[in-house]
Amino acid sequence: MAEPRRVVLATTNPHKVEEFRAIYADLPVALVTPADLGLRVGVDETGATFEQNAILKALAFAEAAGLPALADDSGLEIDALGGEPGIYSARWAGEAMSYPERFRILFRRLADVPDDQRTARYRCAIALAEPRPRGLYQVVEGTLEGAITREPRGTGGFGYDPIFLVPPLARTVAELPPDEKHAISHRGRAARAAREPLLRLLARPAPSFPTTS
Ligand code: IMP
Repeated sequence: MAEPRRVVLATTNPHKVEEFRAIYADLPVALVTPADLGLRVGVDETGATFEQNAILKALAFAEAAGLPALADDSGLEIDALGGEPGIYSARWAGEAMSYPERFRILFRRLADVPDDQRTARYRCAIALAEPRPRGLYQVVEGTLEGAITREPRGTGGFGYDPIFLVPPLARTVAELPPDEKHAISHRGRAARAAREPLLRLLARPAPSFPTTS
């Protein structure tokens, strides 16, 4: 069997690494992390959208690693808060703020919002890029619709999962086993949409450079 091709996963979040490795377990791809490569790449997430931030990360990590890169940018949008926390989900209410404390702040701000107006969604953009001269290859997106609970429930997942209810399942994402989360999640959907483009990218012949004589 052919050696799996290395692709750098542009994240330091161990939960995301675990989720992507599970979703791509059947592909001939070895997802390596920046830490595996001894890389420390600081990327200023200055984009105005998940898509723009995913592109910034994919280009920076492809260049630094000299490998194809897959970057995701994701977060939670709460309709009653005009889309907050949005692209600031990871650092919302302060970088050092714990999630239980963030939940308390969100519950307070949503205290008067009735159940049918507590709609929210998780959004994930995935960008695939290669080192120069090729650069960006493709961007795909995935979403998961849901609603914000009135108290945290469940111990699985990470981040906002204990307060994100999936109404058809009557459970929060933190109450779902990992396989069930991957089957419906924004990241699972985006990662599945990225499978074919990723395989096409890896199948392209290496770029040829002009030779100097
Ligand atoms: P990123 O690493 O810049 O993409 O920030 C993603 C942030 O969005 C995370 O740190 C969480 O706060 C939130 N988030 C994204 N995906 C999930 C998820 O699947 N569950 C819970 N929170 C998530």
